[in-house]
Amino acid sequence: MGICNSIVRIAFVCGLLACQEDVSARYVQSDPVGLEGGINSYAYAQSRPTQLVDPLGLRPLTENEKTFLRSHFGSCLDSVLEKFDVNVRTFGDTRRAVSLDNGFISFPSSYFQDQDPSKELNLASPRVASVMGHESLHQLQRLNGINVTGQAALLQLTASLGISDPYSYPSSSDPQTMLGTFRTGNIEQQGQMFEDYLFIRLSRGDPARYQAIAEYVKNNCACSK
Ligand SMILES: [Zn+2]
Repeated sequence: MGICNSIVRIAFVCGLLACQEDVSARYVQSDPVGLEGGINSYAYAQSRPTQLVDPLGLRPLTENEKTFLRSHFGSCLDSVLEKFDVNVRTFGDTRRAVSLDNGFISFPSSYFQDQDPSKELNLASPRVASVMGHESLHQLQRLNGINVTGQAALLQLTASLGISDPYSYPSSSDPQTMLGTFRTGNIEQQGQMFEDYLFIRLSRGDPARYQAIAEYVKNNCACSK
């Protein structure tokens, strides 16, 4: 079992389900670069500061990216922050981000500064930053024991059959109503609500209706009831 198996399987799942945003397929190994028993991929990358990207295009978070996540998730993601692997999506729908297990997140190349994955994500863009928030919320869901992989696959299946849009949710001007919707929502509704919160906030709009959600996530390190 290795990265090739994983990628083939993910590509198959994406082709089968016509991935709309982010299928969360299980990443088989915790060390996708296959360096277990020796150097971990993070230390490997860090030891080569002039070349943060390893041969597979994975890189750890930059300090700015960590700071961004901590500003919205507090310390909730600290246990996986050092394990994040950021890279360019090369399979499935490459226009959309995808989040896998163990902090593995792939973005469209356009999300990186100069479209260079060795550089930082363009977090000045509300779109890029809010999608980063969406994918990172999936990591928090996983930390909460939620089977994101299985649920995402099922949601994408129903979406591909035209049964439902897994991202849509009822909006309300009341922050507590919105929080209730969030806490009982499916994983993609939660991801979309968090993404919309960040997008509105970073676009200098008024995110008041999402404020209770933002505080709930940050203070409880939780998504659901
Ligand atoms: Zn998602």
